Amino acid sequence: MKRDLEQLISQMSLEEKAGMCSGLDFWRLKGVERLGIPSIMVTDGPHGLRKQREGGDHLGIFDSVPATCFPSAVGVASSWDRELIEKMGQALGEECQAEDVAVLLGPGANIKRSPLCGRNFEYFSEDPFLSSEMAAHHIQGVQSQGIGTSLKHFAANNQEHRRMTSDSVVDERTLREIYLASFEGAVKKSQPWTVMSSYNKVNGEFVSENEYLLTDILKDEWGHEGFVVSDWGAVNERADGLAAGLELEMPSSSGIGEQKIVDAVRNGKLSEEKLDGAVERLLRIIFKSVDHNKQGASYDVDEHHQLARVVARESMVLLKNEDGILPLAKEGRIAVIGALAESPRYQGGGSSRINPTKLEDIREEIQKSAGTAANVVYAKGYELDSDATDAKLVEEAVRTASEADTAILFVGLPDRYESEGYDRTHLRIPNNQIAMIEAAAKAQPNLIVVLSNGSPVEMPWIGNVKAVLEGYLGGQALGGAIADLLFGDANPCGKLAETFPKRLEDNPSYLFYFGEEDRVEYREGLFVGYRYYDKKKTEPLFPFGHGLSYTSFAYSDLSVANKEILEDQTVDVQVKVTNTGNMSGKEIVQLYIREVNSKVIRPDKELKGFAKVELQPGEEQTVHFTLDKRSFAYYDVELKDWRVDTGEFEIQIGKSSREIVLTGSIKVESTKVFRKKATRNTTIGDLLADPARRPIIEGIMKQQQPTGEAEAANHGDASEMVEAIMKYMPLRALISFSGGAMSEAHLDQILDALNEVK
Ligand code: BGC
Repeated sequence: MKRDLEQLISQMSLEEKAGMCSGLDFWRLKGVERLGIPSIMVTDGPHGLRKQREGGDHLGIFDSVPATCFPSAVGVASSWDRELIEKMGQALGEECQAEDVAVLLGPGANIKRSPLCGRNFEYFSEDPFLSSEMAAHHIQGVQSQGIGTSLKHFAANNQEHRRMTSDSVVDERTLREIYLASFEGAVKKSQPWTVMSSYNKVNGEFVSENEYLLTDILKDEWGHEGFVVSDWGAVNERADGLAAGLELEMPSSSGIGEQKIVDAVRNGKLSEEKLDGAVERLLRIIFKSVDHNKQGASYDVDEHHQLARVVARESMVLLKNEDGILPLAKEGRIAVIGALAESPRYQGGGSSRINPTKLEDIREEIQKSAGTAANVVYAKGYELDSDATDAKLVEEAVRTASEADTAILFVGLPDRYESEGYDRTHLRIPNNQIAMIEAAAKAQPNLIVVLSNGSPVEMPWIGNVKAVLEGYLGGQALGGAIADLLFGDANPCGKLAETFPKRLEDNPSYLFYFGEEDRVEYREGLFVGYRYYDKKKTEPLFPFGHGLSYTSFAYSDLSVANKEILEDQTVDVQVKVTNTGNMSGKEIVQLYIREVNSKVIRPDKELKGFAKVELQPGEEQTVHFTLDKRSFAYYDVELKDWRVDTGEFEIQIGKSSREIVLTGSIKVESTKVFRKKATRNTTIGDLLADPARRPIIEGIMKQQQPTGEAEAANHGDASEMVEAIMKYMPLRALISFSGGAMSEAHLDQILDALNEVK
């Protein structure tokens, strides 16, 4: 329905307008009844609906209506499946419609700077391309149902430690290429109805009042059309926030925030037009929600549960499978060990905690899948609420394992190890679980480990087990998904969206994480995740992009459509993938780009494309990618824009970031002239490298012939040395070495000539 928002705003009092910029309560926006502006509801997110029942606790953590708990983002990202996350988004949207919720607070697109971050389970990846693609499709899925999303937590919110006051000190290029890029793609592609500004500061200023981030970049550069909502309690100075581009404060500040806005307008610190602009953005979304509201909608609980099972299967990653121990035969005695099989960890802690519609029992699902020819037995092995080894539990579990043909050991991070609100301090699983693995390995050579965790763990025990299935936080249908994968009713097809380091100390942010008091310097810069491990040639435990399958895939016929393109052209890349095994399966094809001779410091390679294909045994398929300027560009801080330098780029096709199977190449030519102003301190080498300026310098050098010779005589003759000395010599040095032949006035003339070059 078309409405004249300007006309509506003109009927509102200053107080009503300011009022709309703060929440009504914990979850609702304010409406203006007399003008027919309704109050809409927002709730968490991201991987399930957490709608608090009336009269629930103030923090809203407990007692929410039942909703489908899908796997958390770390898992969904490991599916690398755009269509699947879109489907999951649609289901989330349907549940919101059924509960009359207008906006679902998610997805989270923060980059995993450190595996210690307590909230990594809610984020997608260490790589901005993968993260932004997953976020974009999550948003598209939810919004296709007429429900808004809130892309969060914008920006550089990469730790929980001191999360409401910490200051992320990040250089501009890193911010653009890594931390913002993860949001940028999602905003441009999918227009989330809202974006949530994070708690922290970025480079000295709270994001909630950071005009550069909220207005210059998000609204003006990326074209975000919706509104910005503060994270809950993230507002520092309300009027400053509004001026910077923060339209909505949540939750309600009980009148304080709106009064500050009213005062600021009255005393001239804030223009009323600015406030009107904010109200217009709010109204646009509120009415969009009203227009898409499906009164009386419902959803199919079982269907969503089944979808959660599919998503879980695709989200789990087979990390190790020695001697092809998996898939398991559906016979014999199978020991299931570990308290995590009895009390599964299927979701993370904090604001994303969901009250699931049902919860699968892992042991039951394993027995169901194994069938009647198999006998599944269970032993607890360890307590979940303590790290102390219980000798009796271990003894009983060892006996159970040794009497079986195979043992499946469930270990991972208990809730208390990992949550929103705090970071981990190490990457180990509890000692009693490690002791259980070691003891079981001695008693049973056919030992399989299934992990439940939201972020990487160290695995000093990995040599003692035959297989490791990374189950992440698999949502309410994890039991069936695990059983499907263990017995080969489904073929594992997830790949890691993050690097698993051998030790925490190998992680690039290790030296600086989590800062000094509030100051958190991102000193590792661009080198986050595999960008660092690659460049440093540090062997990870499992690299970014790694994941095994029960079948095998061969790659061939890589073709790059052009040998050379201009930077504003695109290029098509094709590669053939064949299933060479005897089980149907899915492969995630990864495309990385490397600049061969880069002028600036760059990672060895960066992910710029991926595709997931399903293939029957013997089937082949050609996978297509389109690369554009951004696939080759870096962010030039001086230019304040993305830049490609003319040169060769390698196109790498990989099964993982460490298993590149085919490479091609392309030359990309820059169409822009990047000519810095020449000054007294511009080097001769830099000027010679510019074809347009070169003749001027060559002319001068001819006249200055003795200069090089005099220098050479000084240092002993060596033509390489003379060349190097000249190359790095600033123009002003020509005066000193000219023996009086060159004057300051002459240098000024040369500079004028150099700066006139177009
Ligand atoms: C979290 C957000 C969440 C909000 C509402 C905050 O503490 O950081 O992610 O959406 O609470 O529960």
